[in-house]
Amino acid sequence: MSTPGPVAPTGDALAAVAPLSLDAVVLDPNGHLGGWQQRSAELSLPHCIDNLESSGALGNLRHVAGRGEQPFTGMWFADSDVYKTLEAAAWTGGAGALRGFVDDTVELLGAAQDSDGYLNSWYQLDHPADRWRDLRWGHELYCAGHLIQAAVAADRTGANGKLIEIATRFADLLVERFGPDGQDGICGHPEIETALVELYRQTGRRAYLDLAGRMIDLRGHRLLDSKNQAADIADRGFGLQYFQDHEPVRVATAATGHAVRQLYLEAGVVDVAVETGDAELLAASERIWDDLFATKTYLTGAHGSRHRDEAIGDAYELPSDRAYAETCAAIASFHWNWRLLLATGRHRYADEMERVLYNAIAVSTAVDGRHFFYSNPLQLRAGHDGSDEDAPSQRLSWYRCSCCPPNLARLLASLPGYLATTDPSGVQLHLYASATVRTSTAVLHVRTDYPWDGRIAITVDSAASEPWTLALRVPAWCADAFATIDGEPVEVDVEAGYLRLHRAWPASSTIVLELAMPVRLIAPHPRVDALRGCVALARGPLVYCVEQVDAGTGVVLDDIRLDPTEAPTGVVRDDLLDVPVAIAARAVVMDDQAPSPIYSGWQSTTPSGRPIELTAIPYYRWANREPGAMRVWLPVAVADVTKRSPS
Ligand SMILES: [Zn+2]
Repeated sequence: MSTPGPVAPTGDALAAVAPLSLDAVVLDPNGHLGGWQQRSAELSLPHCIDNLESSGALGNLRHVAGRGEQPFTGMWFADSDVYKTLEAAAWTGGAGALRGFVDDTVELLGAAQDSDGYLNSWYQLDHPADRWRDLRWGHELYCAGHLIQAAVAADRTGANGKLIEIATRFADLLVERFGPDGQDGICGHPEIETALVELYRQTGRRAYLDLAGRMIDLRGHRLLDSKNQAADIADRGFGLQYFQDHEPVRVATAATGHAVRQLYLEAGVVDVAVETGDAELLAASERIWDDLFATKTYLTGAHGSRHRDEAIGDAYELPSDRAYAETCAAIASFHWNWRLLLATGRHRYADEMERVLYNAIAVSTAVDGRHFFYSNPLQLRAGHDGSDEDAPSQRLSWYRCSCCPPNLARLLASLPGYLATTDPSGVQLHLYASATVRTSTAVLHVRTDYPWDGRIAITVDSAASEPWTLALRVPAWCADAFATIDGEPVEVDVEAGYLRLHRAWPASSTIVLELAMPVRLIAPHPRVDALRGCVALARGPLVYCVEQVDAGTGVVLDDIRLDPTEAPTGVVRDDLLDVPVAIAARAVVMDDQAPSPIYSGWQSTTPSGRPIELTAIPYYRWANREPGAMRVWLPVAVADVTKRSPS
């Protein structure tokens, strides 16, 4: 069996490397990523299915299909929650207990679909005269995109053969309505573009690719300006950059506006660029990447520093406590970086996939698999009011706008498809996990305790007699890498981020790659005002944080200064959630911070305070014990320009 994963470029696409089929990689459930995938399948996905019922999302569709009376409930784009959950179930193959959910939901969608192919419960139930009249806010094309992605997944895995018919009927309607003979229209929330390209890849129908390309080239021509919309809808004051409709995609140089929209758009831009052989368009997307990752990315790989507009923010505007850092933006970054990696083979995209996966994406889900963060700040202050779902202190079971949990479920269900690639030279491993990787060249058995340990053992059962190259990514965070083949040291010559081992492989050999994982102290760029004078702790791909529960009574986390004179070290623990390696560091608790005035005269002083031992845990596991303060970035206890004297 060969099941293409979520991104399956055609043979004609611009591509440096090619994805393996989804079933070519099997994650070991005892490993870190495999265990995460299993928890998502067993805990998070059923939780999403339950909430489709309780949130009313399925009830909306039943009403449209004449099978219920429930008034429309939830966000106007609630159909997309159904589609993403369906996609997650489809990537698992829709077997076992999921079979009923997949088949029943697809049957329901077929019954709810209008005869012309249209499907959107909010418009069908309450606003039938307003179809396509408010492309800015309506999310009709956005929802259609998620329907299409679910259908592609179901078709590829064989989970259901009917959903692709429903999706193509709708897509054909879109071609008729928005194609070259139709209306110039783009969606306020990008998503349809990448979905249409994948539908083209799955069906071979060129009209879907053409429509995606047309929508990308129409963006930036102010079609979403309120003056150009059929419906008389209030402007809401977000500005056209919010929708990435302020300048054409081909000339834009800065990542801006709503973070999820910008990143979903870029996935579609790369898809169109590679399938049409459009190097200029691909370069435009890499330009946006350059801007975003040089100046607008959190240490965790998250994006979006403003709650207002859910926006990316200015360069170096990266506050920890008010980070919006939506889970969906992190997932979108993973999707976009994968597409750029396939197109170019450049290691920087795999590095960012790793960073965002292990930190900004992982932090969203609780240990129990049933509670989720929507926003992912890097600091929670002592005394934070976490009662608002906009910035809760703890993960919530579900959200009024619950885009993130089903998005996580679909990513985790398809995760094996993102580990490795092939090209004519051989096989490339980008992400490390205990897994079996099958290619036409070789079977790789990967054993590792990554990300806790940097030792990766790979047994290569080669089927090829000719020499070929096994490329192993050496992450950008790793300063020292060592390798052996069958016990013999090999020279580690890291070429463009990869250790490339080229030889005629015997039938079986074992490679051991050791990536040194000392605790690292990370410094921010001086222009990041919110972080000036601070450092963060990291080990391997993981960012660490300090939580109130580990700081002890009488210690206010906001008063801690890290003492850098004694190097922090990794320590093995068996009493910290499922975290086997914490970081021990020395710190100082500053005296009398609270009673002093908020502003006072400046004088240079050396900080004084009470020394303490600090325990840091991986950021992605914070807020799993008890509510309390947390911080990733720690002020450093050195001659202190912020120490004040009474004025
Ligand atoms: Zn979301």
